[in-house]
Amino acid sequence: MNDNCSFCGKSDEDVERLFRDPDDPICNECLDTCSALLTGNQVPGWLVTTSPQRCAYCGRRPSEGVRHCVHLRWHSPRICNLCVDTALEALASQVVEEQISNLVDGVDDEDGIGINDKIEHTLLESAGGPPARLLRPDAVTFDFGGTVLRLVEFNKLAGVKRMFEICEVSNNRTEQDLLEFIDELDLQVQERREESLIEYPAVLRQRLIYDALGILFDVSQQEVELEFWKASMQYSVEPGITTVLDGLSARDVKIALLSNSAFSASALRFELQRHGLHDYFSEILVSADYGFRKPHPLLFRSAHSLLGSTAARTWHVGNSRYYDVEGAIISGMGSIWYNPVGRQPQGPAPHETVDSWSSFQSIVERVFDRPESS
Ligand SMILES: [Zn+2]
Ligand SMILES: [Zn+2]
Repeated sequence: MNDNCSFCGKSDEDVERLFRDPDDPICNECLDTCSALLTGNQVPGWLVTTSPQRCAYCGRRPSEGVRHCVHLRWHSPRICNLCVDTALEALASQVVEEQISNLVDGVDDEDGIGINDKIEHTLLESAGGPPARLLRPDAVTFDFGGTVLRLVEFNKLAGVKRMFEICEVSNNRTEQDLLEFIDELDLQVQERREESLIEYPAVLRQRLIYDALGILFDVSQQEVELEFWKASMQYSVEPGITTVLDGLSARDVKIALLSNSAFSASALRFELQRHGLHDYFSEILVSADYGFRKPHPLLFRSAHSLLGSTAARTWHVGNSRYYDVEGAIISGMGSIWYNPVGRQPQGPAPHETVDSWSSFQSIVERVFDRPESS
């Protein structure tokens, strides 16, 4: 159970009231901030957004007539105006109930897939919908962070320090100058990526940052990107993933990585090599190299096409209900939700949900052991 506000990070001891939602606790101060935002006030670092993600509490998307608040500086989840109202009412009436998700009315998602975006609709129709059940796969695509490898730490300062070590000309800039510039650019870019599903690659971003600050390098943009990654990122291997990758390889199932990453495939390839996992993956597809982000179906289509498989004979597995499960479903693929932390289900249902890689392994064995009727 998380005891810190997902929107500002404060602990329950530092705020008057914290709704102890199992996934996304929110404090009274953040609710007040949301309320101010929704009545048209500006709050630094916060935004009312139309990006097509779901409210963390009721599952509604902005296309369903609600408005979402997000704390960009904290990379927070989204809360809709209806859930803000519900929570504020509960606070005012001193309701003892302490989970917003229990206070809100459920949203019917009876149309199955709650996709309202025009492009996604068109692609969904052309894909013909996901298979009724998981078919024996010719290929499996895996999400990266939180699925194959777990992020232990992103140390932005360490990355920035490394940049000053390898640059040719620093123009008397300080680490603080660089950190502030990066943060400011992130604020401008982050939500636009989410709304448009268009990726802004790190190599472009860093070119803009360093040229604007007059910091010059004698190495390629690709090397600068990789040096920043090496210095700032620390990952660990998800327990049991190696057994799964071995099991699929032994059955001649092709394996690819399909990741939303501003960093290019070479950075992720480096990280997989660091953990001895690289050779399992015949393709590494990242949003930075394609320009689109999951759940955009074109990224999924590129993956199964490259692997020589059909959508229906390709499984995608990942830890995000939005990026991974919805993306796989609208692409007509088999979808498996990797949910080791027991998050509440939301949005369209995947074919299967697993809480560990050993459960995934059982599904693989079941699907391969049973005779396949057509
Ligand atoms: Zn808060
Ligand atoms: Zn809501």
